[in-house]
Amino acid sequence: MKASMNLGKILGIPIGLNYSWFLVFTLLLFSLSSGYFPAEYPRLTTDAYVLMAAVTTILFFVSVLLHELGHSVIAIRNGISVKGITLFIFGGVAQIGSQPQTPGVEFRMAIAGPLTSLGLGALFAGIYWLAQPYTYLAAPSLYLMRINLTLALFNMIPGFPLDGGRVLRAIIWKVSASFGRATRVASICGQIVAFSFVGWGVYTIITGDFMNGLWLAFIGWFLQNAAVAEANYVNTYERLSGVSVAQAMSRDTAEVPALAPISQIVQEIVLGQGKHVFFVDGFDGQVQGLLTLQQITRIPQINWRFVTAGQIMTPIGQMCRFEAGEDLMKVMEKMDEEHIDEAPVIYHDRPVGLISRQQVQRYLHLKTKLGV
Ligand SMILES: [Zn+2]
Repeated sequence: MKASMNLGKILGIPIGLNYSWFLVFTLLLFSLSSGYFPAEYPRLTTDAYVLMAAVTTILFFVSVLLHELGHSVIAIRNGISVKGITLFIFGGVAQIGSQPQTPGVEFRMAIAGPLTSLGLGALFAGIYWLAQPYTYLAAPSLYLMRINLTLALFNMIPGFPLDGGRVLRAIIWKVSASFGRATRVASICGQIVAFSFVGWGVYTIITGDFMNGLWLAFIGWFLQNAAVAEANYVNTYERLSGVSVAQAMSRDTAEVPALAPISQIVQEIVLGQGKHVFFVDGFDGQVQGLLTLQQITRIPQINWRFVTAGQIMTPIGQMCRFEAGEDLMKVMEKMDEEHIDEAPVIYHDRPVGLISRQQVQRYLHLKTKLGV
């Protein structure tokens, strides 16, 4: 889920809005100002209804944000980075930098969100109870109490990607000592939950409530996609754990002198030897940069005789580099985090290969084909 607008940072975590959020903001604002508040307080002006609805809607989103911050605080405390929190059409999502290392961490991280919502529900219940003399506080706090309790309950449904699915995974992980098995079970539960929502939505449409039915089916569809995506991610994670960068990197590289003209490289090394990536050596024999076939094709062919490798290479000092022995999954996470597509792999201070997303995909594909 990508943020389309940044709202600033809380606890160092960037908070963002996805455009789809505005749709639900508008719908909620409309339904509160034209339905709920006029029913609760007849004889007020439209302005008053809109004002109350706006304040309540904003507090609802603050509640969602606090739910996500609940997850994030526990993540950060356990050394897991939080890349950002994004509010979107179905609520909020905190992007966690890496998988939790133990079932205990996963459990606490997952339960922190619903507990936050439960706490907020209790807080608004308290306000509702204390607000009896100030009537205009009663209906908004009652609404916010209900919605926070709903958030806590809904999120505890035991299926990925909901918090309850993560709690379930943590428990199975603890009992079975297998992260992979726990994930598969939680993902299957998630898909059952997702299809139930779709079924419920279709039933609701058939019985005549088109809008609510469509909404339920839409939630089901979203949950289904997320459950499958999570299972795929973990599948990849499992298959790459214990694999070093050197095992998966591309060795399809060659070294070329910085002064070599592009025409010579194309003739001798690209067409002659089938290589695609070049480490460019300086006068001292040290590798100074990286040159790819893509960079070459960006130069008009007519200039190939006059342009040298050293002129169009990416200086290696400016690139992110990885050691050959590093854990591949950690490297992939870092590449994701910093939006790096490819990086040289270093062994004893010399580049020995290139790691890229494509290369890792190829490696996984090969593993699948061979069944290893
Ligand atoms: Zn949550």
